[in-house]
Amino acid sequence: MAAFNTEKVLSVHHWTDTLFSFTATRDPGFRFTSGQFAMIGLEVDGRPLLRAYSMCSAHHEENLEFFSIKVASGALTSRLQHLQVGDKILVGRKPTGTLIQDNLLPGNTLYMLGTGTGLAPFVSIIKDPDTYERYDRLVLVHGCRAIAELGYGELIVNRLHEDEFLGDLVRQKLLYYPTVTREPFRNMGRVTTLLETGKLEADLGLPALNRESDRVMLCGSPEMLHDLTVFLKGREFVEGNHSEAGHFVIEKAFVEK
Ligand SMILES: Cc1cc2nc3c(=O)[nH]c(=O)nc-3n(C[C@H](O)[C@H](O)[C@H](O)COP(=O)(O)OP(=O)(O)OC[C@H]3O[C@@H](n4cnc5c(N)ncnc54)[C@H](O)[C@@H]3O)c2cc1C
Repeated sequence: MAAFNTEKVLSVHHWTDTLFSFTATRDPGFRFTSGQFAMIGLEVDGRPLLRAYSMCSAHHEENLEFFSIKVASGALTSRLQHLQVGDKILVGRKPTGTLIQDNLLPGNTLYMLGTGTGLAPFVSIIKDPDTYERYDRLVLVHGCRAIAELGYGELIVNRLHEDEFLGDLVRQKLLYYPTVTREPFRNMGRVTTLLETGKLEADLGLPALNRESDRVMLCGSPEMLHDLTVFLKGREFVEGNHSEAGHFVIEKAFVEK
């Protein structure tokens, strides 16, 4: 059996010069847990060219959705950014990843801290009814440089507010905190700084982050992950993984090459 399925692109939306999202068909046998990633890509010169991508779809959704960077010199995304409806993509059959609920100890509030395309796994998680059953409150923080880069996250949250089945729970439990670093906006500053200063919790009317009640999922640049890991460990949060659940889990949004 091939290591990947061939899927058909159903829609493409360009958010900025550097960000786009797209949906594709989903093989009924492709099962994943909300928050996981898979290897996806294109056939180039008869060979698969694959990169890790978080699924933005929840595990129960019929189609697949992805949120992608466009790297001008990137082997995959220099091509992927030209996707058209009807094009074929390859999707690896083995989803994996650490941003799953079983890797976290039970808690009251789930903080999901993402920068750039690090939003992607959280799109999946906030669409999953199970997340709302596990936690009293969900906090989604999305940090970007510019306001336009927040567009995809804003659309998803707005749609969820109006969702026929999840809408009530989303309005009750989900706090959405978009923040930018390079232009004036209602929330400004790096995610790390907002936590270090306590501004994030103050703005949201929440108690200071603490390991008794709060669980944290991180997805961002290597630098963001490093800084926030130091911050959380300094507050005695323990990192969770597949062998032992903890107070926080991390996933790289990309790897520096
Ligand atoms: C676990 C995991 C999950 C990922 N999920 C996603 C996802 O959901 N969406 C997505 O767009 N990418 C994601 N990535 C990154 C992705 O695998 C590729 O790196 C990206 O698609 C670019 O591929 P490329 O071949 O064009 O360039 P590459 O050669 O892979 O990357 C070139 C350079 O571009 C920069 N870069 C790459 N990806 C990003 C990014 N996402 N944001 C900012 N800078 C970047 C880095 O500096 C990198 O060194 C993920 C990576 C990992 C490890």
